[in-house]
Amino acid sequence: MTADGQLSSLAEIYAGHSVAVPPVISIEVFPPKTADGDQVLLDTLDQLAIYRPRFISCTYGAGGTTRDRTIQLCQQIQSRYACTATAHLTCVGSTCEELLEWIDRARRAGIVNIMALRGDPPQGQGGFTTVPGGLAHADELVALIRGKSDELGVGVAAYPEVHPEAADAASDLANLKRKVDAGADAAFTQLFFRNASFLDFRDEFDRVGVGVPLVPGIMPITEFSRIRRIAALCGAIIPEGLAAELEAVRDDRDAQFEVGVAHAVAQCAELISEGVPGIHFYALNRSRACAEILEALGWGLDDGVVR
Ligand SMILES: Cc1cc2nc3c(=O)[nH]c(=O)nc-3n(C[C@H](O)[C@H](O)[C@H](O)COP(=O)(O)OP(=O)(O)OC[C@H]3O[C@@H](n4cnc5c(N)ncnc54)[C@H](O)[C@@H]3O)c2cc1C
Repeated sequence: MTADGQLSSLAEIYAGHSVAVPPVISIEVFPPKTADGDQVLLDTLDQLAIYRPRFISCTYGAGGTTRDRTIQLCQQIQSRYACTATAHLTCVGSTCEELLEWIDRARRAGIVNIMALRGDPPQGQGGFTTVPGGLAHADELVALIRGKSDELGVGVAAYPEVHPEAADAASDLANLKRKVDAGADAAFTQLFFRNASFLDFRDEFDRVGVGVPLVPGIMPITEFSRIRRIAALCGAIIPEGLAAELEAVRDDRDAQFEVGVAHAVAQCAELISEGVPGIHFYALNRSRACAEILEALGWGLDDGVVR
C-alpha cells in the first residue's frame, strides 16, 4: 500500500529498485485451520506489521483446500494492516472456469496481486494430476490471469536448487522464462539455505534474460526436525556445516532457534549486499524469528522510521 492508501501491484512494488534502495520486505503466511491458529496469526501479523512489509502473501492450501480462506485472509490483511496482500492460487483440483471464477471473486474482494502456481496435491495423494478442463502448469495459469487482466500483479515460483520434478536445471529455468513470457511480474524463490545456490541461479537467470525481479525466499530455521521435513519435501539443501551445528543442539529448541536465526541473518545480509530487490520471508505464521532477523539487519523501529 502506498502512503495515500493505494494498494500496490507487484510491478509497482519492485519498480525502480536499485542497490541504493532498501530491499522490499514481504511476508508469507498461510490460512490457519483452527480458531486458535487464527489468533496466533493475528498476533504474528500485529508484531510484524510494525516492520511495514510492502506486502503480505497468503498461501492457497495444498489440494485447493483454502480457496475461500485465502481471499478472506487477504481482505482482512488489507483492511486491518493497510498493507497490500497477495493471494496465492494453484491449478490443483480446479477447472479453468473455476479458476476464472476465483480470480473474479478475488478482484471483487479488492485483491490486486496473485501468486500463480501449479501447486502440489495434499500429502499422500501421489503426484500432480490435471483435472479435465484444468491446467497442467503454472505458465498456463499466468496466461489465464493475463487473459482477464493486465492490471493484476502476478508472481511466480522459481527454484534455485531445481524443482524436484524437473528433468534438469536448464528445463526448469526455461519453464520459469515461459511463466514470465506469459506475463508474470516477479519471481519468488523456493526456500534455500545456501546463498551460492541462489547466486549461481541468478547468474543463469540473467544470462537467459528472464527479465523480472528475482526475490529470494528465506525460511528461518526455528526447529531442526520441522525444517528437515520441509527441506526434504521441496528439495532444499541444508549445508553440512549448518546441519552439524543444529545436530549438536538437537535437544535444545532455544539453541536451534538461535542457530537458525543467526544463519538467516547472515544469509539476508549477504543477499542484500548482492543487491537483491527484496526478501520474501516464509514466516510459518510466527513472528519471533522474522522480527529478530529484521532487528539484526537494522530494520527495527525505534523512532517510527524504517531504516
Ligand atoms: C514462492 C512460492 C509460493 C508457493 N505457494 C504455494 C501455495 O500457496 N500453495 C501450494 O500448494 N504450493 C505453493 N508452492 C509450492 C508449489 O506449488 C510447488 O513447488 C509445485 O510443485 C510447483 O509449482 P510451480 O508453480 O512452480 O509449477 P510449474 O511452474 O508448473 O512447474 C512444475 C514442474 O513442471 C515442470 N514444467 C513446467 N512446465 C512444463 C512443461 N511445459 N513441460 C514439462 N515440464 C514442465 C517444471 O520444471 C517443474 O518441475 C509455492 C512455492 C513457491 C516457491
